[in-house]
Amino acid sequence: MTTGITPVLPTYARFPFAFERGEGVRVFTEAGDEFLDFGAGIAVNALGHAHPHLVEALTEQAQKLWHTSNLYTIPGQEKLARRLVENTFADTVFFCNSGAEAVECAIKMARKYHTSGGDEARYRVITFEHAFHGRTLATLAAGRQQKHLEGFGPIVDGFDQVPFGDLDALGEAITDETAAVLIEPIQGEGGIKPAEPQFLRALRALCDEHGILLIADEIQCGMGRTGKLFAHEWAGIAPDIMPIAKAIGGGFPLGACLATQEAARGMTAGTHGSTFGGNPLAMAVGNATLDIILEEGFLDRVQQAALKLSQKLAMIADEHSGIIEEVRGQGLMLGLKCRVPNTDLVAALGDEHMLVVGAGDNVVRLLPPLIVSDADLDEAVDRISSACAALEARTAKSA
Ligand SMILES: *Cc1c(COP(=O)(O)O)cnc(C)c1O
Repeated sequence: MTTGITPVLPTYARFPFAFERGEGVRVFTEAGDEFLDFGAGIAVNALGHAHPHLVEALTEQAQKLWHTSNLYTIPGQEKLARRLVENTFADTVFFCNSGAEAVECAIKMARKYHTSGGDEARYRVITFEHAFHGRTLATLAAGRQQKHLEGFGPIVDGFDQVPFGDLDALGEAITDETAAVLIEPIQGEGGIKPAEPQFLRALRALCDEHGILLIADEIQCGMGRTGKLFAHEWAGIAPDIMPIAKAIGGGFPLGACLATQEAARGMTAGTHGSTFGGNPLAMAVGNATLDIILEEGFLDRVQQAALKLSQKLAMIADEHSGIIEEVRGQGLMLGLKCRVPNTDLVAALGDEHMLVVGAGDNVVRLLPPLIVSDADLDEAVDRISSACAALEARTAKSA
């Protein structure tokens, strides 16, 4: 053993909090301190912590069968895939374990679509500035964040990037080597930036015109977060391929890549795989998560909560305009663009025992569990208000 490096590879700058258990929108430290969780494990715990229906599904499956591999039929996969197909544009689903893997599948599928159609030249994917698609070598190349790529050798070939929302630049970037366009309907890590609905519609038309595939990365904005099952639905368009992850497992690692029959035409037996992908435990939780999100009235309630929260946040931004410049986002995927360093607001909220997540463009993300109650929202608003006041008091003192 060498001293100096921590036993856990030190690739994260972590907060000093450690939690022992959770319940609904709250998590508790070993000492019993309660925190209001408006980060939801980065938009993962859509049904909050320890949701009884999820706990039951997981423990019941845990007593029966954990893993068999994809050498065999997995009934839970067939059920979850059928339900996702019934409720989306998609005809077929591949299961994996994370968001980056779901995007990898999407990129491979888009390339294979063209080669299987005899067009070997089309392999490039156009992405958008400030995008985030994961941390594998290909998804890093797709996101093209210098700070993530630095020092990791040659960037995987096959990605071009244009400014988010810039249709002209996009039109110019399309060549006869372009296979697909990959977009987050709402950029998450980039700072809660929703694409305009008319941009998404124009993007869909442009892809159709050029015979290229549209990939919507709904890993963060999907699964009910915006008050529709998937965010692209607000624009009235459908992608050809859609990687999802985060909330679909409610906290159990699960990713999926949804596609139309046409887009998936090249993905025949042997072309892609995963040892763990879609194992019985993950499928039990995925199906249980979907049970709740598809319940009558669930998404209406998300929209109602979102409206309440965004109105209250607008008032806070008014009152504390020295701290918060703008409130943006959609549904329960909201961003506070800060005038102070966003890390200061995240820390001040930590002092108020409220968890949130930083993002690019100096934004603080609010991603509460979708089951958040009106009382939880009131409490959150109080804590944000207090955090802003504390920051103002500190600035006044140092001035
Ligand atoms: C989180 C995220 C990913 C990567 O997911 P991992 O599970 O961390 O691999 C990809 N795309 C978007 C939009 C995300 O928010």
